[in-house]
Amino acid sequence: MNWFGRKKTMVLTLGLILGLVLAGCSTASSSGEESVPGEAQEKTQEETQEEALKDMLDDVIGQVTVTEEGGLPCASVDVYAMTTAMQLKGYGERAKEAVQAAAEEILRLDRLLSVGKAESEIAVINRDGRGPVSADTLEMLREAVRVHERSGGALDISIYPMMDLWGFTSENYRVPSEEEIRETLALVDQTRLVIDESTDPATVTLGEGQGIDLGAVAKGFTSARVAQIFKDYGLTSGLIYLGGNVQCYGSKVSGADWRIGIQDPGNAAGIAGILEVSNMAVITSGAYERCFTDQETGKTYHHILDPSTGYPAETGLSSVTIVSSDGMLADTLSTACFVLGLDGSTDYWREYGDDFEMILLDEDGTIYLTEGLEKKFTTQDHKVKILYRK
Ligand code: ADP
Ligand code: MG
Repeated sequence: MNWFGRKKTMVLTLGLILGLVLAGCSTASSSGEESVPGEAQEKTQEETQEEALKDMLDDVIGQVTVTEEGGLPCASVDVYAMTTAMQLKGYGERAKEAVQAAAEEILRLDRLLSVGKAESEIAVINRDGRGPVSADTLEMLREAVRVHERSGGALDISIYPMMDLWGFTSENYRVPSEEEIRETLALVDQTRLVIDESTDPATVTLGEGQGIDLGAVAKGFTSARVAQIFKDYGLTSGLIYLGGNVQCYGSKVSGADWRIGIQDPGNAAGIAGILEVSNMAVITSGAYERCFTDQETGKTYHHILDPSTGYPAETGLSSVTIVSSDGMLADTLSTACFVLGLDGSTDYWREYGDDFEMILLDEDGTIYLTEGLEKKFTTQDHKVKILYRK
């Protein structure tokens, strides 16, 4: 291993630690009324170090390691992208090439989509109010339009200015005033987006002052793309772990289903249960993933916002997991259903749920499973209720 490779591996280990840190709640010391927008507060040494670490960790591919399992080469790699610690594992004769190609594709998609990278397609659209989009971005936009319509606006990618107001984009978290929320809410309306597919490439135009963010869709699109790459390289099996979002490719080498732990938001160290599936994306949106606690009130605010109020969605659910062979659909719906809550999600599933199943956890620890998962999910200590098609 050369020096550079070693350094990257070291950095990656730090990345995984940081990923775990990022998953917890931060604290914000001032409420919206008191903080002065734009005025940077003095940073502690710790914060400066953390920022430097994050810059260093941007877009890193670790060393690909290859072992053998069940008579097949097994390649794995750590990737840090989309502010997420990721891990890819593939089994097959061409596993090493496949995971390397997949890791590079993840970095390419990150550069294409990241709101924080000045030259990304999304950042250009947000800056200029319009811009061209590649076929990949267009596919995500179409999915966002479909789910926006079907969910009555619970998913709205024009939520970006509201994410920014709360400091979720900069990590300078704060609770905005009611007036700020009201003003910014006027910008949140995905139906004002114009997607023109008659041009080549297609172009997107925003309404005045609007901004978009594909954060609810991108990681599912990415895991589906990785699964496609594994298929192109003829792999037998694989596991794609994008920081809490899992997509399994095929079954285990032994032919058995993958056993996927569903996190218990009430117990950071534990899992609520185990799902046994093959060839499925298992994607979770949780109130615990990115959040901060306002020091003055002790109230915690998380990163999934209700586009009808501008505040974090509070429906009594602590997480929503969508299980589908379509990764992009699973990701998009995990966010939409979190906003819809138990009843809204159940209605959505009854109407459009031919291609997905759900695991909903409520704040009291009850787990709701759609009927297709009844025999695939086991839990030790949670109460389970089954949702039927009717
Ligand atoms: P994670 O980013 O943890 O995987 P999600 O898939 O639920 O979780 O996506 C949350 C992201 O989606 C947020 O960080 C934000 O960028 C965006 N977002 C938040 N609320 C909404 C919403 N109501 N509609 C569309 N996008 C949203
Ligand atoms: Mg999502």
